Amino acid sequence: MAKKGRVFSGARPTGRQHLGNYLGAIQNYVALQDDYDCVYCIVDVHALTTVETTQDLRQNTFEMTLDWLAAGIRPEETILFVQSHVPQVMELHAYLSMVTQFGKLTDLPTFKEKVRQQPDNVNYGLLGYPVLMAAGIVLYKSDIVPVGIDQAPHLEFTRELVRSFNHRYNTKVLIEPQAKHTEILKVLGLDGKEKMGKSLNNHIEIASTPEETTKRVREMVTDPARQRKTDAGNPDICNVFTMHKIFSAQEEVDMINVECRRAGIGCVDCKLRYAANLNKNLAPFRAKRAELAANPNYIQDILHDGGNRARAIAEQTMIEVREAIQLP
Ligand code: ADP
Repeated sequence: MAKKGRVFSGARPTGRQHLGNYLGAIQNYVALQDDYDCVYCIVDVHALTTVETTQDLRQNTFEMTLDWLAAGIRPEETILFVQSHVPQVMELHAYLSMVTQFGKLTDLPTFKEKVRQQPDNVNYGLLGYPVLMAAGIVLYKSDIVPVGIDQAPHLEFTRELVRSFNHRYNTKVLIEPQAKHTEILKVLGLDGKEKMGKSLNNHIEIASTPEETTKRVREMVTDPARQRKTDAGNPDICNVFTMHKIFSAQEEVDMINVECRRAGIGCVDCKLRYAANLNKNLAPFRAKRAELAANPNYIQDILHDGGNRARAIAEQTMIEVREAIQLP
C-alpha cells in the first residue's frame, strides 16, 4: 500500500531508553511506520552541544539502537541512521544559517532554557541547534514531523526558514514540513512528581531485568496522604494507578480503583501487581533485545545501511540546493 508521505524524527543518543521514552516516543515511532516512510535519526551532532564528555557516545548510540529495534523499528523499510554519517546536513546547515536572523535564534525559548541550564557553556552550536535541526528535516524532504509541545517552536522556525530560503533563491526545492501533533503522554518518574528522565534518576529502563524493574517499582511514590495500609487511598492522584491503566488488564484496573479507595488493597501489593504486569508486557521486547545484543555487528550493519540510504536522499537534495543558490 502506498504510504502517505515521509516522516522524520531525531533523538539524541541517550543510551538505554526509559519508560518515558518508550511510551512517549518509541511506540509512536513504531506505529508511524504503518502509514509513512520513516526516517529516524540518532542525532549525535546535536548531542555535542550539551555533553561534557563523548566517551559514552558510541555505547549510548548502540544501546539506543538496540532498544528501538527490539521495540519494533523495522530497518528494512525505515531508514535508521546516525546524524554524523550524513555530512550533507552540515553543509545545508551552513547555507540555511545565511537566511537565519540571529535575533530569531536568541528569542527561542529552548535556547533561553539552555543558557539557564549551562551558563558556562553557551556555545555557538547551542544557538545554531534549531538551524541544524531544520537542515536535518528538510534534507530528507520530510512531509511530517511528530512534535510534542516543547518542540513546536522549532518546527515553526523550520517552516519559516524554508520559506526564507525558497524566497531568497526563488526556488521550491525545500519542502515545508507539517507538524504532526501527537498526544504526548507525560510519564512521571518514580517520585510521582517530575517527568521521568535520566538526569533525575527517577526512571525505569525498559531493558532492565525483571528483578531490577520490580525493585524500582517498589520505590514509586503513591498517594502521599496514604500513610498506612489501613488508610483509604486516592488512585486519581497516584502514579502507580496511572501506570496500571497502561499495563494492566481492565478488570485489575477496576478492582484497584475500588479497593484502593476502601483500603482493601495496600500500596505494596498494588506496586507488585504493576511490576508483574510491566515485566510481562516487556518480556517479548527484552527477549528480542537480548537476541540483537548478541550480534553487535548486525547493529552496526543496520546503521551503516541506514546511513547509505540517508546519504543518497541527502545528496540528491544538496544537488538541487547548490543549483538553486547558483554556487559556482
Ligand atoms: P531528546 O533530547 O532527544 O528529546 P529525551 O531523552 O529527553 O531526548 O527524549 C527522547 C524522546 O522521549 C522525546 O520524544 C521525548 O518527548 C520522549 N520522552 C522523554 N521523557 C519522557 C517522559 N517522561 N514522558 C514522555 N515522553 C518522554
